[in-house]
Amino acid sequence: IATHQLLPEDNINVVVRVRPLSNREIKSGDESGVQFPGNGQIHCDGIPNSGDKKPKLFSYNVVFEPAASQEDILQYSGVKKLIEMAVEGFSCTAFCYGQTGSGKTHTLTGPPGLFNGKNPYSEGHGLVFRSFVYLFKILQERQDCNFVLRASFLEIYNEKVIDLLNPGTSRKPLAVRWSKKIRGFFVENLFTVECEELDDLLAVLEEGMRNRSVGSHNMNDHSSRSHTILTVHITSEQQMENGVFISKQGKINFVDLAGSEMTKKTQSEGKTLEEANNINKSLMVLGYCIASLSDGKKKAGHIPYRDSKLTKLLADSLAGNGVSLMIACISPARSNASETINTLRYAARAKKI
Ligand code: ADP
Ligand code: MG
Repeated sequence: IATHQLLPEDNINVVVRVRPLSNREIKSGDESGVQFPGNGQIHCDGIPNSGDKKPKLFSYNVVFEPAASQEDILQYSGVKKLIEMAVEGFSCTAFCYGQTGSGKTHTLTGPPGLFNGKNPYSEGHGLVFRSFVYLFKILQERQDCNFVLRASFLEIYNEKVIDLLNPGTSRKPLAVRWSKKIRGFFVENLFTVECEELDDLLAVLEEGMRNRSVGSHNMNDHSSRSHTILTVHITSEQQMENGVFISKQGKINFVDLAGSEMTKKTQSEGKTLEEANNINKSLMVLGYCIASLSDGKKKAGHIPYRDSKLTKLLADSLAGNGVSLMIACISPARSNASETINTLRYAARAKKI
């Protein structure tokens, strides 16, 4: 099967989502410093009271304005294509990048308290929920194949991998190892749940989110420093006319990254990459990998996937035979302009991959 022919032109699709101003921002007199000229562009005022007051214009595949709904993100971000490709056997990743409070978790999972089977499909549900619904819709249409779905949900905190489906009382970290057989990295002893119905996948989402908050004393600080990866492995088996079975192994990762301000924090504390373990090595290395991949010259050479847990686990979808979607989340507030511009630059660089 000539899978490479199915690859889209770009390995990575980059979209930006701008959240609305919060009530707190409005109350404190903050204003929006971004405008939307259309065509995937975003215009950003300079940084007030800084040496960088010059306005900037960036362009991406799509820009979602504050009024965009959760359903718009499913329909227009390109995630549906990713899900279709995962069903076809590719390794795919959708990840949210941005400073703490920019809307990453809102975009992926929606506000808390939506689950418990109470609200089967409400306006608030995030991209993961909607993607699951879409995945099952596709699978039901594909009567020619047998599918097996397995899901896992993990967290990387302080370069330690914790199983969010089976954290254990000691939250003992799991090892990331290289497998010759799959020619990729995997997490040893990670709990994976076979999911026959939509409700099984939703239970995985709910259980993982619950365990994420249970293990932390200060949820805000914890979630700004941790990455979560929810993975759905899709195995399909199809019998060809000549009786031969073709089996494909695809997957889709949904990644809620640590707050992007964490990398700067690492640097400002004067730490080297080795010392940065305690703050956020994974996020820094992801930046290096994206920079290397987007630099045409380096693309052929060394990409430092092996330098962090996160990039090991995402390597197959960032490079080679994989496809990724980056959702850069930003706040429109002038008071956040500096972080917003950092995020927009990072996203613009990723677009060149
Ligand atoms: P992050 O995960 O990036 O730290 P959150 O997703 O927790 O940020 O969002 C911060 C706050 O902003 C939350 O209260 C969230 O509900 C709200 N929020 C984020 N994006 C939106 C949006 N598009 N519409 C409405 N509220 C949003
Ligand atoms: Mg969050």
